[in-house]
Amino acid sequence: VVDVDGVQIGGRDVVMIAGPCAVENRSQILETAQAVKSCGGTILRGGAFKPRTSPYSFRGLEVAGLELLALAREETGLPVVTEAMDTMQVDAVSCYADMLQVGSRNMHNYALLEAVGEAGKPVLLKRGIGATIEEFLESAQCILDTGNPNVVLCERGMRTFETATRNTLDLAAVPMLKHHTRLPVVVDPSHGTGHWWMVPAMAKAAIAAGADGLLVEVHNCPEDALSDGTQSLRPEKFRTMMNDLRAVAEAVGRRCSTADTDHVVRPLMAVG
Ligand code: PEP
Ligand code: MN
Repeated sequence: VVDVDGVQIGGRDVVMIAGPCAVENRSQILETAQAVKSCGGTILRGGAFKPRTSPYSFRGLEVAGLELLALAREETGLPVVTEAMDTMQVDAVSCYADMLQVGSRNMHNYALLEAVGEAGKPVLLKRGIGATIEEFLESAQCILDTGNPNVVLCERGMRTFETATRNTLDLAAVPMLKHHTRLPVVVDPSHGTGHWWMVPAMAKAAIAAGADGLLVEVHNCPEDALSDGTQSLRPEKFRTMMNDLRAVAEAVGRRCSTADTDHVVRPLMAVG
């Protein structure tokens, strides 16, 4: 079980990590974080340093993004996970984040794996786009070998011949990883499919397959998102999904937090 500031990943509860692909501005992250919290999300995600395939895409607010994540944590009480793309970013990211993310593109970056391990905070390690299970576990071992036992594995889809989906989500990786390791396993159906409307179905399937948690992109206004809007759930869809996931979790002996029905998702007042 990996403890992220009081949230246990790998216990009975299925943990929901949710938030925008990237931190874009104050109102976007605060509104989205409030929505995540009110819908039962347990950890807030959001990229400040963004690895983008095209050099012309939005690459994140960097340290300003980390500061906004810290503000969102203060307002919601949700722990925060965000990515460090480079060894030089690890100090800054670990000053602000409760959990450090190593992205798919960096799963083979052994210097980074060592640096995030040594930072001492829990690490969310995403599977490389073309990495075998064995390579994935070897990368996890690089972090563990620094003496940091708090590694969570994330299946996020891989590159195949299929182009209808952004990646091919390998749900068979869940029981396979669990067969070979005691590390918690979470699934990212957002990057795994690339389509918001596929996310609820694959989230249910991931829980049924034994995932300890999900990582889902949620945006207060996906049509305006600077990155990954097409795979981001708007808050209402996220709320419905959360309520639907509970029955699946219970069917496999797990628990899943549900939306707070008294709380209406509305834009924050007085955001600058
Ligand atoms: C992300 O989760 O922010 C991300 C960039 O995903 P991936 O590394 O899986 O592409
Ligand atoms: Mn994304």
